[in-house]
Amino acid sequence: MDHGPRTTDYGLKTSEKLFDEALKLMPGGVNSPVRAFGAVGGNPPFIARALGAKLWDADGNEYIDYVGSWGPAILGHAHPKVAAAVREAAERGLSFGAPTELESRLAAMVIQIFSSIKKIRFVNSGTEACMSAVRLARGATGRDKIIKFKGCYHGHADTLLVEAGSGAATFGIPSSAGVPKDFAKHTLVANYNDLGSVERLFQQHKEKIACVIVEPVAGNMGCVPPVEGFLQGLRDLCDAHHALLVFDEVMTGFRVALGGAQELYKIRPDLTCLGKILGGGLPVGAYGGRKDLMDQVAPLGKVYQAGTLSGNPLAMTAGIKTLEQLTQYQVYDRLNEISAFLTSGIKEIIGTKKIPARIQSVGSMWTLFFEKGPEAFKKFFHGALKGGIYLPPSQFEACFVSLAHTKDDIEKTLAQVADTILTA
Ligand SMILES: *Cc1c(COP(=O)(O)O)cnc(C)c1O
Repeated sequence: MDHGPRTTDYGLKTSEKLFDEALKLMPGGVNSPVRAFGAVGGNPPFIARALGAKLWDADGNEYIDYVGSWGPAILGHAHPKVAAAVREAAERGLSFGAPTELESRLAAMVIQIFSSIKKIRFVNSGTEACMSAVRLARGATGRDKIIKFKGCYHGHADTLLVEAGSGAATFGIPSSAGVPKDFAKHTLVANYNDLGSVERLFQQHKEKIACVIVEPVAGNMGCVPPVEGFLQGLRDLCDAHHALLVFDEVMTGFRVALGGAQELYKIRPDLTCLGKILGGGLPVGAYGGRKDLMDQVAPLGKVYQAGTLSGNPLAMTAGIKTLEQLTQYQVYDRLNEISAFLTSGIKEIIGTKKIPARIQSVGSMWTLFFEKGPEAFKKFFHGALKGGIYLPPSQFEACFVSLAHTKDDIEKTLAQVADTILTA
């Protein structure tokens, strides 16, 4: 592998040339908006290869990775057991569109890990998982309205692509063109960690509310842990109003604990959405929960949901092999220990250097928030990137530590953070 610097014929770096080409072919040059570096400016490195906690770009630059493909890479990249199993599975056929034993194996593993999940349906993304869980909640309750929280992301389905207007207790305003106001009006928006805002919506709309959907640890506005009593309060409000509680654990599932935030905070949702780690780097999502609810999904029930590639054998294999690693002895203790080494190190740096910033974390999920705003983050981000530290290109994303990060990786990262943060 050549890691030396490379440039193209006209003096651009390879990543710059690749981005120029991509811009002509795809909107923003990307297939998911945040990858385009809109919030931080500059040119995104094009990734050529990844192994363990490291990434290499098309110019041969090496990075310590804290994006982890936005969550899935909890074992590190290209884990040898996962990669080998996927290669072997590929030899037996890429997709059948018919039942396989692999689906039941992964289903049984998830059901064993999540005590609230009695039956599960696999889909291809977190977006599909959340969209389908909300459809099921509406179908099962016969109610149209849902409550979500400002700043929580549940994928890009119409119903869920809604955030608050100026007041919390207003009807949702679509946060994308193309979402009809008539859909958005059924999505009520409350404030995260503010039970009062949820209570008010229940009082106003009472028996019209099908479910509350929440990220039990918010990750899509940066890492924001639930305050004491918030999740229990949601459980109680849903029970009082015969609405369903949906935990979107697409990010937190297998991340903040093996059994997700519901294990960590001991709250039992009615339905759970999973994704990211569940697919071990391949496109997998899932929703599952109470048996009486899941039995209302087609073909047993009247709530329709289907997928040509759902339960794909390669994806199921990657999921099974990933969970096999995660269910080994004391894996999360190890992960949390190495993560705490990083987060406490950063905390110490911002404390001693008196940087107006604050780090928030739950286990291996963390965000460094700059109180001075976007410019400070931007400078820090580019300094870190130049120094070989790959962070999400937005202040409002969670960073992840993986099981492949070593003490040496963390020490290098802390040295770079200490250097970079002075100039931020
Ligand atoms: C990433 C994410 C989704 C969407 O998953 P995709 O696989 O990107 O569609 C939904 N909910 C949460 C909490 C997420 O973090």
